[in-house]
Amino acid sequence: MARLFGSNGVRGIVNQEFTIELASGLAAAVGHLLGKDIAVGRDGRTSSPMVRDAVVSSLLSVGCNVHDLGAVPTPALQYMIKHMGWDGGVMVTASHNTPEFSGIKVEAGDGVEVSKDTEAKIEELYFKGDPKPVTWDMVGQVYSYDSMDSYIEAVTSHVDLEAIKERSFKVVLDTGNGVASITAPEIASKLGCEVFTINTEIDGTFPGRGSEPTPENLGALKELMKATDADLGVGFDGDGDRSIIMDEHGVAVWGDSSLSLIADWYMETHPGITVVTSVSTSQRLEQVVEAKGGKVHWCKVGSVLISRAMVDLGAPLGGEENGGIMYGPFLPVRDGAMVMSLLLHIMAERGKPLSELIAEQPMGVKGKDKIPCPNHVKDEVLRRLPEVADAPIVDTTDGVKLIWEDDSWVMVRPSGTEPIARVYAEADTEEKVKQLIEEYKKKASELIESLK
Ligand code: MG
Repeated sequence: MARLFGSNGVRGIVNQEFTIELASGLAAAVGHLLGKDIAVGRDGRTSSPMVRDAVVSSLLSVGCNVHDLGAVPTPALQYMIKHMGWDGGVMVTASHNTPEFSGIKVEAGDGVEVSKDTEAKIEELYFKGDPKPVTWDMVGQVYSYDSMDSYIEAVTSHVDLEAIKERSFKVVLDTGNGVASITAPEIASKLGCEVFTINTEIDGTFPGRGSEPTPENLGALKELMKATDADLGVGFDGDGDRSIIMDEHGVAVWGDSSLSLIADWYMETHPGITVVTSVSTSQRLEQVVEAKGGKVHWCKVGSVLISRAMVDLGAPLGGEENGGIMYGPFLPVRDGAMVMSLLLHIMAERGKPLSELIAEQPMGVKGKDKIPCPNHVKDEVLRRLPEVADAPIVDTTDGVKLIWEDDSWVMVRPSGTEPIARVYAEADTEEKVKQLIEEYKKKASELIESLK
């Protein structure tokens, strides 16, 4: 059976790969599988009202009641599902993809993306052409909501409002013309910050800096931080779950470093917890977590896998190095606004600027590159690579990761979608990272060549 779900939801170019028929068929399967009360939200893409209408009609036709939240960030939809006790939800979004894309993310009744097993069940129902529409008297109702107040209230209830307010932080937010514009500035204001914003007009063509924040395209954020002498900068992705943080010098802070800081802070009062992250995250997170009696649970790359592992293990913290952090006491899903609030809380409590707090984390230097790798040799590369590797620990959770005693590591991981393999590394110095990446690009390329 063909796979429709990728690493996070179903996505494709609208009206080509991701058609109204596909959206509608998937929504019927979701409604049939998850239950009677389904929330629907959408991002600010030009195609999203069209796709949302198809999703809503289809859910109604299989007898679901639809709770329509309108344009909202993905984490706000996820929160509302759990808070209101609904059976699940559909977020119409292609996250950080370019404007021509559309897609859906499917949420379970606990507010977390559905498991891989449920994705497979949705696909099976879709391909079988089930379920059938209900009779006229069983068609569902639409209930509309237009306030995000309870979500905003809930996020800010997890931090010390008064302590943060006292510091009168200056924050600059670049919401990238996405739906984080609806909630993030209001949350920062509620925290007593002086808020400066860029790209807050929701526009599905993403004219500001595109829908994916990267350290390279956040120049305007950096400039405004400098001009306003800001304490914190945050760039959000198109649907508001992922964010890139900048310290008071305009230096981008990677997800591993902020996760390490948040873990270090949280474990002061909750020692011995499990922190979930993917194998591409800094190995040195273990030093921070183990120092307070906790343990790191490593899983495959992909935010849904981290969230689901958090639920299964009862782990309160999770995150990935690309800037998605899950704070379980709120909800074990990525939420850029929750991360912003936590960092402000820690800055207030510890009385230090973010750059200092981050410098205290033991993270090494990291690097990433890629090499061509045809799809048909990928399995064999994974099987044979450990044979040519020279490291005491070989971890095959996702790709092949080689770890040395000093916590330096290199990982070769074939892409699930493209004919390439990514090579990641971490070490003490830039030079050692480059050397590790070059060495293993060469070893992997020679192996790939011999298998062609
Ligand atoms: Mg996203």
